[in-house]
Amino acid sequence: MLQQTQVATVMPYYRQFLKRFPTMTKLAAATLQDVLKAWEGLGYYARARNLWRATRQVQQNFHGRIPRRYDEFRKLPGVGDYIAAAVLSIGDEQPLPVVDGNVLRVVCRWQGIADDILQASTKKKVRSFLSKIIPVRYPGRFNEALMELGAIVCLPREPLCGQCPLRPGCFAFRHGRSDLLPLKSKRAPVPVYRVALAAIVRARKVFIQQRPEKGHLGGLWEFPGGKCEPGETPGHAVVRECREELGVEVEALVKLAVVRHAYSHFKIVLHVFVCRLHGSLPRTAPANAWVRTDEISAFPFPAANHKFLPQLKEFMKKARSEQSEKKTIRD
Ligand code: SF4
Repeated sequence: MLQQTQVATVMPYYRQFLKRFPTMTKLAAATLQDVLKAWEGLGYYARARNLWRATRQVQQNFHGRIPRRYDEFRKLPGVGDYIAAAVLSIGDEQPLPVVDGNVLRVVCRWQGIADDILQASTKKKVRSFLSKIIPVRYPGRFNEALMELGAIVCLPREPLCGQCPLRPGCFAFRHGRSDLLPLKSKRAPVPVYRVALAAIVRARKVFIQQRPEKGHLGGLWEFPGGKCEPGETPGHAVVRECREELGVEVEALVKLAVVRHAYSHFKIVLHVFVCRLHGSLPRTAPANAWVRTDEISAFPFPAANHKFLPQLKEFMKKARSEQSEKKTIRD
């Protein structure tokens, strides 16, 4: 949970998650859908899928015990160098250095490493340096101390060198270069995509579908739609996307909402339309359902969708009361 996410954000999710899945056996026995629901809102859903798969592998291949050997643990889904070193050093006192963004900054300043920290070779250099100095006794504490030093003392903008235990041997401090280190190349600007979504309504229900398990937001539920082509209006895009994706004709009745959302590598502007279906039901989406808006909360949705669900519920409620009014007048 803590990958790419701050402790304060994680805490309520962590507590709820442990309540829901107090043991690895319980987590492994759960459905992916249940796990995604418990993770809903925390983002980076690959972490949830990997954690669930990893617990299943631990149950099946290691008799329910987390493997202690680095090569075995490193092969579990979602485990990279960072997670492997963090878990095995902090949880099992193995002398494996952890290299995160904070550690990179501290070591580059401390050792005067003037290489781009976005390059894998820099990470390798830092890891190799730390491998030589990490103590055999309490390596977990060493890693935690270095990460904490980066988080609260060796700050990105104004490091608190006066409070730093590394100051006597620190290259950046001695040479007055803490504002120049670490070096970081500029990332390409984050692309912004316009996306058109269809809330297809029929008989008080709305159509939703499940994303394939693999890939971005895998296993979560969504509304059909997709990216607008260059020069295409969202209103046209939503009709085209439904035709291409589901093989159905829809009519965009009303624009429900425009919401913005940022992912780690791109941003989206969602244009959401309430649509009417012409003709028959959508054909074989991998999994789909017609649901009432009060049933939607049983399905895990990406955070961006939650931004317009209240409007959708409101719309459906209004449509229902208008229908019943008409009915009463006719009666
Ligand atoms: S002395 Fe300053 S620049 Fe050097 S590691 Fe400590 S806080 Fe960072």
